[in-house]
Amino acid sequence: MTPLIRLDNLTVAYDRHPAVHHVSGSFASGSLTAIAGPNGAGKSTLLKAIMGELRPAEGRVEHRLGRREFGYLPQAAEIDRRFPISVIDTVMLGAWKTSGAFGRIVPADARRAGEALSTVGLEGFGGRHIGSLSAGQFQRVLFARLLLQDAGIILLDEPFTAIDARTTKDLLDIVVRWHGEGRTVIAVLHDFELVRAHFPQTLLLARELVGWGPTAEVMSPANLLKARAMAERWEEDAETCGPEEAPAA
Ligand code: ADP
Ligand code: MG
Repeated sequence: MTPLIRLDNLTVAYDRHPAVHHVSGSFASGSLTAIAGPNGAGKSTLLKAIMGELRPAEGRVEHRLGRREFGYLPQAAEIDRRFPISVIDTVMLGAWKTSGAFGRIVPADARRAGEALSTVGLEGFGGRHIGSLSAGQFQRVLFARLLLQDAGIILLDEPFTAIDARTTKDLLDIVVRWHGEGRTVIAVLHDFELVRAHFPQTLLLARELVGWGPTAEVMSPANLLKARAMAERWEEDAETCGPEEAPAA
């Protein structure tokens, strides 16, 4: 297995408070990896560091990929759907890879955007405003955009949280297809059943690495307990910090 992305003693911090601490290991080219861990474990932070959106406080992320080779689906809470943009234009943003941020959108892109919309089951939705869609429909739009972007490395942050079962199944099929096409996929997931059923590799994070490797080994009861105990420890620390340490609201 060829390592595509290597993490070397990676620490990522906000205001000097580490959210990801001393993580080392590698993602093989073509691997399908789940990132699991409690709330606040640093999962979203880790994805952003892998893409280069956050700089390490210590250690390194090593790869030879350009920013445009990463397809990224942010956590739903980070997206503002009040932005006045149509479904088709949202999908076309995925064509930036070929047209450039200020390049011309060519008719071929428009055709591919329409095809991507039908692949995700949203044929005929192109003219709708994104604010008018259900959570599941909007997630389908973001997957259509990833299809158009055609990236070799796809990072998904909780793609199935607050999404109906039918949409989860349809979008999971696309993830499995990406894996079959040899793309490298890394997804933050909450649903352990889904991780065990579909993700061969798991990275279990609780700020520090609890385990990283074959899912059946990493998602052991002992490791899950360990991750939970680590999370409870930070919650106690936060309580004993007192109001002076609390971040400004
Ligand atoms: P997860 O995705 O596993 O829930 P995150 O990576 O979002 O965890 O957050 C990890 C820690 O970093 C949390 O304690 C969170 O409050 C903190 N954090 C996340 N984003 C920021 C930010 N922009 N500024 C300051 N602290 C942050
Ligand atoms: Mg998160």
